[in-house]
Amino acid sequence: MSDRTCDVVVVGAGPTGLSAARTLQAAGKDVVVLEARDRVGGRTWTDHIEGQMYEIGGQWISPDQSALLDLVEELGKETYQRHREGDSVYIAPDGTRTVYNGDMFPVGESTQAEMERLIAQLDELAARIGATAPWEAEDAVELDSVSFHHWLRNQSDDELACANIGMFIAGGMLTKPATAFSALQAILMAASAGSFSHLVDDHFILDRRVVGGMQSVSEQMAAELGEGVVHLNSPVRTIGWTEDSVTVGSDAMTVSAASVIVAVPPNLYSHISYTPHLPRLQQIFHQHQSMGLVIKVHATYPTPFWREDGLCGTGFGAGQLVQEVYDNTNHGEERGTLVGFISDVNADAMFALDEDTRKQRILESLADFLGAQALEPEVFYLSDFGAEEWTRGAYATSYDLGGLHRWGRFQNDPVGPIHFASSDIAAHGYQHVDGAIRIGQDTANKILST
Ligand code: FAD
Repeated sequence: MSDRTCDVVVVGAGPTGLSAARTLQAAGKDVVVLEARDRVGGRTWTDHIEGQMYEIGGQWISPDQSALLDLVEELGKETYQRHREGDSVYIAPDGTRTVYNGDMFPVGESTQAEMERLIAQLDELAARIGATAPWEAEDAVELDSVSFHHWLRNQSDDELACANIGMFIAGGMLTKPATAFSALQAILMAASAGSFSHLVDDHFILDRRVVGGMQSVSEQMAAELGEGVVHLNSPVRTIGWTEDSVTVGSDAMTVSAASVIVAVPPNLYSHISYTPHLPRLQQIFHQHQSMGLVIKVHATYPTPFWREDGLCGTGFGAGQLVQEVYDNTNHGEERGTLVGFISDVNADAMFALDEDTRKQRILESLADFLGAQALEPEVFYLSDFGAEEWTRGAYATSYDLGGLHRWGRFQNDPVGPIHFASSDIAAHGYQHVDGAIRIGQDTANKILST
């Protein structure tokens, strides 16, 4: 017995699910969205901690992310640029701190040349292989059989150049050690952002933010869907299906429809029970897409003190606990906020510590970049999506070594009336909100065209 029937059920009210529902509804379809959490937005989440607004999840938009930029404009929202005036800080593996300006880390001349050569090589690979079907490249098997770590070291014997380049994709994007994913996966990441050069250019990749927070994009999409469309606190546990119908069971209600879009990250597909069970192919490859792990660090101070020292707040250090730090001061605020990122094994190490020691270690790392004032924030908070049942990691999922060329070509295929969509299997905008919007719209259009 269903509580409701409709044309299409959407599982998950993140940016993917909501943009799919929006597209379907605009085409006249009756849609129900079932969301496990008590809020919409998924991995985008804007909240107040001790009165301070933080972007706990996704926040930045780059200039090429036109699907998201168009949606933001359509919703009548404003964006603003990240503060970027001033010098950056680089900390070398031996702990030497250098203040610099420009795009290139202040490393020795030969390391700089080596980094430039690797960037050019990755740009060329990204341009040739692209983000849409990297598995079709003639050297896909070869590139997918070697870890990004080892691929880099096969290209160059300059360890510092390899570590610095590796950081942009490993700690910086996929949030797994560079030994855990392939060179092909790294090239997909670069191609999905337009080029590898875009990933190393923080002015590009971390360009703009949404006034009022990124979650408000999802909140407004949900509100515009109207009463009774989005159901919160409704974790989907079961999907029964035939060739042309589905019955979707959540804790709150059961919905029957012609099709369903499972708009959750791939690591959560198998937490839903399918009757009949999914084909062998899906049962196998869904196990090979796993979440990375990153702690997003937020620290707020009475003023953005680093600006008085001529610093923009940006810092990089491939060997540091906090590998990247940026000025994340909110639009129109006097207080200054820093955001930093601690990835994979460093995140494991932090979670093994008690809360006070963890905080102290992290603040010391921020202070190494920006000075002792960083030790005394008024508000301090760590985003911990690894502890969230309905995400289980951050930022997104990627294949383990060899998985992308073996299974990537199947990841967007529906199984009967069951469609899968999330930023994690998007091409352009892969792992980003822009990719979520694109794949949500594309999946809805696929359903509309059948
Ligand atoms: P999600 O946002 O994960 O939404 C999936 C939804 O499905 C969730 O609401 C979840 O609760 C729900 N769900 C899961 N299982 C079930 C179930 N069984 N039943 C019902 N509902 C279910 N991207 C950027 O573009 N810029 C950034 O600066 C950026 N920074 C990030 C920082 C962090 C800390 C994190 C975690 C992510 C960041 N991202 C960023 C990535 C971005 O947030 C994601 O790519 C995007 O949110 C993915 O959208 P989605 O709808 O595909 O998935």
